[in-house]
Amino acid sequence: MAPDGRLRYKWRGEDPHHPENRALRAAMEDQLPLIWFFGVGPGEYKPIFPIYLVAEEQDSHQFVVAMDEEQRESVGGTAEEHVRNYLRVERNQRMHQRIFRSTVMRAYTTRCAVCALRHGELLDAAHIVEDGHELGVASVRNGLALCKIHHAAFDARILGIRSDLVVEIRSDLLAEIDGPMLQHGLKERHGERLMVLPAVKKERPDVGLLELAYEKFRSA
Ligand SMILES: [Zn+2]
Repeated sequence: MAPDGRLRYKWRGEDPHHPENRALRAAMEDQLPLIWFFGVGPGEYKPIFPIYLVAEEQDSHQFVVAMDEEQRESVGGTAEEHVRNYLRVERNQRMHQRIFRSTVMRAYTTRCAVCALRHGELLDAAHIVEDGHELGVASVRNGLALCKIHHAAFDARILGIRSDLVVEIRSDLLAEIDGPMLQHGLKERHGERLMVLPAVKKERPDVGLLELAYEKFRSA
């Protein structure tokens, strides 16, 4: 996400004079409300409206999107306005997280990547690299569908995932004897490949992000 908390809508292709880009520019100039069918997967869209295009970033071939009427107000210098602007960014982030979750759940067919548990109410859309990190974008390639226990274990660096998609459990836990959750849920996943991955290759975890997270797991 851009630091201003606003979404970007990509041009059609790279030609500024493509009819679709010209139509979008005209809508921006007239400040017409638009509906954005935000793609969360092949053939799956979430309608978001009204949105307005508020600026164009020609170098990056994209428009800047405002999510509602309020957002189009220019940002002034008073403290109150800064607070309001902050709240708008927060709201956009919540929407990003909703989209992130539905994208990840769809890509992983609502199953935990580590244990294949298939109950949505027990699953999270986990970030491989945390949200606050500069690379921690809310993209499906930085996502994993994980059940609550595997998500917590991943965040706590008890469970690591190598870039070849094999699960590792921290060595001190491997030596521990405990109940079935430790035995089956964690220890027996050690050395096993992820059980569920997105069917679409370009939605699978990004190798660079996995390596970054794995390094932290190793240093824990
Ligand atoms: Zn699991």
